[in-house]
Order: sequence, then structure tokens, then C-alpha cells
Amino acid sequence: MANKHTKFIFVTGGVVSSLGKGLTAAALGALLEARGLNVTILKMDPYINVDPGTMNPLQHGEVFVTDDGAETDLDLGHYERFLSLTTTRKNNFTSGQIYDAVIRKERRGDYLGGTVQVIPHVTNEIKERMLAAAEGRDVCIVEVGGTVGDIESLPFLEAVRQLSFDVGHENSIFVHLTYVPFIAAAGELKTKPTQHSVKSLLEIGIQPDIIVLRTEQPLGTDIKRKISLFCNVRPNRVITAQDEKTIYALPIALHAEGLDSQVVEALNIWSRMPDMGEWERVVALTTRPSEHVRIAVVGKYVELAESYKSLNEALKHGGLANECKVDIRYVDSEQIDPQASDADVAEALGDIDAVLVPGGFGYRGIEGKIRTVRWAREKKVPFFGICLGMQCAAIEVARDLAGLAGANSTEFDADTPHPVIHIMEAQKQVLDKGATMRLGAYPCNVAADGKVHEAYGKRLISERHRHRFEFNNDYREKLHQVGLVATGVYADLDLVECVELVDHPWFVGVQFHPEYKSRPLKPHPLFARFIGAALQQRKRVHERSGAKSA
Ligand code: GLN
Repeated sequence: MANKHTKFIFVTGGVVSSLGKGLTAAALGALLEARGLNVTILKMDPYINVDPGTMNPLQHGEVFVTDDGAETDLDLGHYERFLSLTTTRKNNFTSGQIYDAVIRKERRGDYLGGTVQVIPHVTNEIKERMLAAAEGRDVCIVEVGGTVGDIESLPFLEAVRQLSFDVGHENSIFVHLTYVPFIAAAGELKTKPTQHSVKSLLEIGIQPDIIVLRTEQPLGTDIKRKISLFCNVRPNRVITAQDEKTIYALPIALHAEGLDSQVVEALNIWSRMPDMGEWERVVALTTRPSEHVRIAVVGKYVELAESYKSLNEALKHGGLANECKVDIRYVDSEQIDPQASDADVAEALGDIDAVLVPGGFGYRGIEGKIRTVRWAREKKVPFFGICLGMQCAAIEVARDLAGLAGANSTEFDADTPHPVIHIMEAQKQVLDKGATMRLGAYPCNVAADGKVHEAYGKRLISERHRHRFEFNNDYREKLHQVGLVATGVYADLDLVECVELVDHPWFVGVQFHPEYKSRPLKPHPLFARFIGAALQQRKRVHERSGAKSA
């Protein structure tokens, strides 16, 4: 078997959900990479949906899209931000996908004569996928979604138990993440929930090798010793993961606790000490910025920051590139009246230096977004429109500059007299075949002049998509004439991917989602430029108000 030498790290979680298992797994991945190892990481999700594409972002959080067009769990975003890998559909699978595959095989007659069961058929399917993802790597980190004790995650836990047995304990370890609550009334930190969740793991045949304790308070050696004793884990393999000021401090904190050295020792891997310099620089810039900017994110799912996870991180990375802190102000576009005066829009947005309209689906709040675009365009405030945000910019310019009354996207008004955003004929054929969206990476040719080219510094880029509707080429010339220029095109289908306003400090709309590809150690060029423009705007406004008061 090709991945005979791959070492596996299975990461499970206990006590409660939302402990940051994905982040912990990703930070561990970053540490192992910093040790020079070739690492991959994957997530197994216990829900029955085939993918999270159909789930409400308020329930599930962001849908992360890979280059190869898979709609995946947002933890894959953490993986790409912490590790150097580019994930694919192999890096995330759900119970739904596993059962779907097993049932298809059953119908096809692959198991003819046999009774198809959770063990071995479902567990084998899970094991095969772990092995496929691990192919050719030194280390494969497997994050088991859900909480130990849930009915849903049992087949996954059984599969990792078996895989660990197959590859041998010297080639696989279990890292279990739990929570140590502080009971204020007693003034005490409690280890019992951890003991119980380890007991649940033991019941299904898994003895954790390393325990990571999430806590808001520092943990004394007494607590660690107690957990060590009750849970059968060496004291130096009981690791504290206290809340950090920034998630990017996590690799440093876990390294200081000895997590990576315990992992390589347990797996008998020879590797160098990690160089944490780059992460230290990111943390220093994040926690001690010299300047800051405020960005209004005008969207629909503003109630839950998780639904714009990659976007928030990409904005922070843009700050890193400019050595400044980015304060994000979420504005619900439904609160902006389409008829609002400039002063009212300004008040709704608050004291901000730039505006971003992110991706989204459905008509709710659209008119408020379009009103915001007009405000940013007229007031010459830096504007960044992503996917739906770009479509809103095209609609706004069509209506207000090109005089195309009633211009709209056919997503919102099927009978609009001016469908500046629509589904193109070629696309309709694709959509009929069951592919509901343009998903994943597409190449884009960038025009030689303009902000997009300034940002990337190259003429051919590749970015990820997740949308149905497109810029209507029938309106390209009309919008060009009033100053909205197409500066990025997907050549094969002649689809407009980027637009920008010529007579504006920074007004860029992109049909793709650049936020998916931004990393703290490699901030995305468009976000870097957008935050740079916001910084300029802040200085301009300050100079102006300084001049006024002088
Ligand atoms: N709703 C729009 C479309 O489907 C935009 C999608 C998005 O912003 N991700 O084209």
C-alpha cells in the first residue's frame, strides 16, 4: 500500500461542541509543517447531508469551496489558512456521502449475496477515504466531527479505531480535545467532564494518547496531574489550550505546551524543531498594530460571524499586509432603506473607512446593498463587492449611471427590462444537468490596466466560485461607457469576472470569492489593496477634518 508510511493523528472532541477542534487540528498541522513534515488534514462530518451546500449558513456557518469545486465544512478554511496545502474534495466527507456511496454499491451489486452493515461496509468505506486522502504524505491528521458520545459519530470512531489497529499504534495516535469548566460558585476548575468523555472513548476501544484541555483559566499542574491519573495519559501529554487573543497565536501556544514534540515522540518521527518566526510576526502585528481601519460589511447573515469566516479572516490578513488592525462592522442591509438620504446611509454605516458587500443568496436586503453601493461610489469611499456584491455594483451602475431603470438580476426580478445579471444560455445547459452552480476554481484573464492588475501583478489568475448568475455581456459596452470596466474575464465562456470603476479611488467587484484563498502568511492581494485603500481613505478624512478645525 502506497501510504504504508503515513502516520495518522486522529483528533476527537468531548464534553461540548464548538471547542475549536478544527482550529486545534489545523494549528497542530502548522506545527508539524514547521518541523518540515509533509502533512495533510481532513474532516469527517457526521451529518446526513451529502455536503453543507444546502444548509442555512446561520446553522452551519460558511460553506468553504475547494479548487476542485467541493462545498465543504468551514474547518477546511482553517486548514488552508494554517497549513500550506490546498484542499480538495478528499479532505472532507460526510455520513451522507459515505451512505450514498455504500447504497450505490449495494444497488450495483458490489456486495451481492452479503448483508450490508455498518461494520464492515460503512466503516470500510470510511477507512478507504482516509487512506486515499493520506496517500503520499508523512502525516495525516483526521478530525472526527461531532462530540464523543453522539450516536452520529459512532461509525467514524469505529473506523478510526480499526484504522489505528490496522496501521499499528506506532503509526497512529489519538488526540482528544475536552473542556475544563470553571465553576464560579465553587471557585474551582472541574476535571469530571473530561474524565467522563475519556470513559466514553474507552468504551468504544479508544485510549487517547494526548489530551488537549480547552479552558478560559490557566490550569495548574494539579489539574493536569489529576487528568493524567484518571485518564491514563502521561502528565506531559496533557496539554493546555487557553483562550488566545488571536487564533494565530494557537500554534505558538500549543508549541510552548509541548504538543508537537509529544506528537512526534509518540509517533516516533524524527524532525527538526519548528521555526515559529512567521507566526510570531503575525501575532505581533495582530496584537500590536500601529494603525487601524474600520470596514463596514453590509450583508444578510451578519448575525453570525461564522457565516463569513473566510471573509473575516481575509480582511484581517489584508490588515497584516498593511501592518494595521481591521475592525469589522457588520451592517444588516435590511436596515438601509433604498430611499435613504446620504446622511442616513452614512449614519447606518457608522464611522467606517471602506465598504464591503459580500456574497449571498436571495432577494432579502438587496435594495439596501444597492443603495450602499451608490453611496460608496458617489462619496468615493473604497468599495469591494464580492460575488453578489459585484452583481449589486453592476445593477447600481446600470440604474444610476447608465439610466437603465429597473435594471436587476433575474435572480431577484425575472421580468426586469434590463437583466444586467442573468443565467447565460451556455450555463443553463450545465444547470439542467443537475450542476446547480458554478463551483470551484476558474482561470481569469486580467486586463493590463486597473486595480485588479495592480493587486495581482499578473495577467492570469485563478479564483474559486460559488454562484449561479453571471454578468450579462449584452450590457458590457453600456456599462463600460459610463465607467464600469470589465478587467477580468474567464476566456472560455467570455464571462466577466472583475469589474472596476475608473473614476474612483478603489471600486472593485469580483464574481469569484477571493477570501477562500487568503492566508495569514500570504494575504490575498485584493484584500491587501482594499485595506490599503481604506487606510488612505482614513488619512484623507483625517486631513480634511484637521484642515477644517485648523
Ligand atoms: N446569488 C448570486 C448567484 O447565485 C450570488 C452568489 C454568491 O454571492 N455567492 O449568482
